[in-house]
Amino acid sequence: MIEIGIQTAAYLFASILFILSLGGLSSQESAKRGVLYGIIGMLIAIVATVLGQGVEGHIYIIVAIAIAAVIGTLVARKVEMTSMPQLVAILHSFVGLAAVLVGFGSYLDVDTQSITGTEHTIHLIEVFIGVFIGAITFTGSIRAWGKLDGKIMSNPLLYPGRHIVNVVLLIACFVLGYLFTVAPGLDGMLYLYIMTAIASFIGIMLVMAIGGADMPVVVSMLNSYSGWAAAAAGFMLGNDLLIVTGALVGSSGAILSIIMCKAMNRSFISVILGGFGAVTSGVAQEMEGEVTALNHEAVAELLKEAKSVVIVPGYGMAVAKAQYPIFEMVQALRKEGKDVKFAIHPVAGRLPGHMNVLLAEANVPYDIVMEMDEINPDLPSTDVVMVIGANDVVNPGAQDDPASPIYGMPVIEAWKAKTVIVMKRSMAVGYAGVENPLFYKPNTEMLYGDAKDSVDKILGFLKG
Ligand code: NDP
Repeated sequence: MIEIGIQTAAYLFASILFILSLGGLSSQESAKRGVLYGIIGMLIAIVATVLGQGVEGHIYIIVAIAIAAVIGTLVARKVEMTSMPQLVAILHSFVGLAAVLVGFGSYLDVDTQSITGTEHTIHLIEVFIGVFIGAITFTGSIRAWGKLDGKIMSNPLLYPGRHIVNVVLLIACFVLGYLFTVAPGLDGMLYLYIMTAIASFIGIMLVMAIGGADMPVVVSMLNSYSGWAAAAAGFMLGNDLLIVTGALVGSSGAILSIIMCKAMNRSFISVILGGFGAVTSGVAQEMEGEVTALNHEAVAELLKEAKSVVIVPGYGMAVAKAQYPIFEMVQALRKEGKDVKFAIHPVAGRLPGHMNVLLAEANVPYDIVMEMDEINPDLPSTDVVMVIGANDVVNPGAQDDPASPIYGMPVIEAWKAKTVIVMKRSMAVGYAGVENPLFYKPNTEMLYGDAKDSVDKILGFLKG
């Protein structure tokens, strides 16, 4: 057992480490250090909590931590980079579920029953709000996991009058909240159960209403919700560190959501209300032009002749694990004196920063990895743009087809280059499920096949 003073000091220290951790994650160079701060902070937090006053049954806690640590390690080692968003979503659902269970437990706790007056009412409000946010986070995250994993269709599920239904459900929750706080003894449990069912339904419907192209924002938004759920659990348990940590996660997730909304030209308010994937109307544009394809040798020749090359990676690069041969190809081209850069779209891949992580894994230097806004002005003077396993992020329809679900989303303007080579396995659509007019442009050539196979073959021709 440790003194309260020592526990408070440990919590303060852990909070500082969490803030440093978030700061570290803001750039690739300091990200590893940021993660380390986070791990140390969490270790201190767990030890200080488990050894705190009034905590009993240490043996059960240690066994639970040991089992969870084994499961966590196995899952983390097994998960592919392409499945990270699903893992993140399912982990958010655990936070939501934990907040719901803490809420139920806290309400049934004999200590809660013994407090009276305003303090009791405030505690009941904390329980109610905590369970509400937790239930939305829980079911919303499970839905998001299903969509990202392809188990549920990524199309938005919309029904007429859904906003009215949501408002009615919210009003019902307010009424239930009032009945809950005035109910004597444990009679409020029934209202808590009904509200949990309603909030779980709201969580499902909020995420169901959002289309595939907007899923990145949903992932960071659920991250934010899970933070608020944790903060609510902190209030219920009277744990200051959980409140601080939850608020950090909640606000950083909200800031990330706002940044991503800006990157996708979406309104943040429509995101948190759900269903903003359905703002388009009309019939999608007919594809005009012909699709032409090249073989690997011809692409290698084009690269040999080019002075400047820009590579636009996407989800397909992650699936094919093509980042290693791509970097080898980049080194070979740079040796020939060519100007080679990468162009990264903020939502390329399946989670924020996905491409940056993969390129860093392959040791690509940061100074040739450009953000979309930095590289777009250079594209009209670029000889060859290689689109490797990307699709939605280079779709010109986002700029000129008001009927497209991704209309208004900023994109990498690959089509402005002299020649565009699109490397993918087929003419299949990307995550947003929309046709890509880029493939039909006269300056675009397709190179069909698995991205890694294709780059290996091109490399062979470049070297040979
Ligand atoms: P897309 O999903 O639009 O396109 C990826 C393309 O890669 C597909 O068209 C596919 O075509 C191709 N591909 C798949 N496997 C391979 C392979 N082995 N070799 C070569 N090509 C392959 O990806 P983008 O990165 O362009 O766009 C990301 C999309 O995902 C956006 O719509 C974004 O909103 C969404 N999203 C992003 C998240 C994020 O946080 N970044 C989270 C969730 C969704 P083919 O089958 O013909 O090979």
